Amino acid sequence: MKKFVPDLICQSVFTIDLDKLKERQISGLLVDIDNTLVPWGEPEMEEAFVAWVRQAQHRGFKICLVSNAKQNRAQSFAALLGIPAVGMALKPLGRAFRKGMVLLGLEPQQVAVIGDQLFTDVFGGNRLGLYTVLINPLSKNELESTKLMRRIEHWILEKMVRRGEISRKHVQIRQGRGSDE
Ligand SMILES: [Mg+2]
Repeated sequence: MKKFVPDLICQSVFTIDLDKLKERQISGLLVDIDNTLVPWGEPEMEEAFVAWVRQAQHRGFKICLVSNAKQNRAQSFAALLGIPAVGMALKPLGRAFRKGMVLLGLEPQQVAVIGDQLFTDVFGGNRLGLYTVLINPLSKNELESTKLMRRIEHWILEKMVRRGEISRKHVQIRQGRGSDE
């Protein structure tokens, strides 16, 4: 159960406090694509997300995309942003996260995983001892299998609140009812 607890829950990438990550000596970000930087399955990344990546880079973060999407989808966004990507990641398996760390030349304690799913991004990152940031999915469009996982996700998050592992406020952020700004 502990392996599902994110270190941080934010509304979106825009509300992640990058200074706070820096204070933790984190200098690399392994970022999910679908429903984190781009609405699920959309071919284009909105300018605001491109700008967020640029801004994070400007502040000294190295970034690698780690996505379960097909290689060509991951690579098209990597090319747009000029950063590396690992596609067909099979998250939560550790292989792609490890590959991402090698591409960035960083150690686990220097890396944060950012993504919208508890079972792939957070669980996968926590298993490797990485700092994990859960954000809200950008759209409600996703695979049927993911929709099912969302219901289990919700149940697990409620359980975490009862155990005091995350605050009620965080779940409200997750449900779009709270604010972390
Ligand atoms: Mg995702």
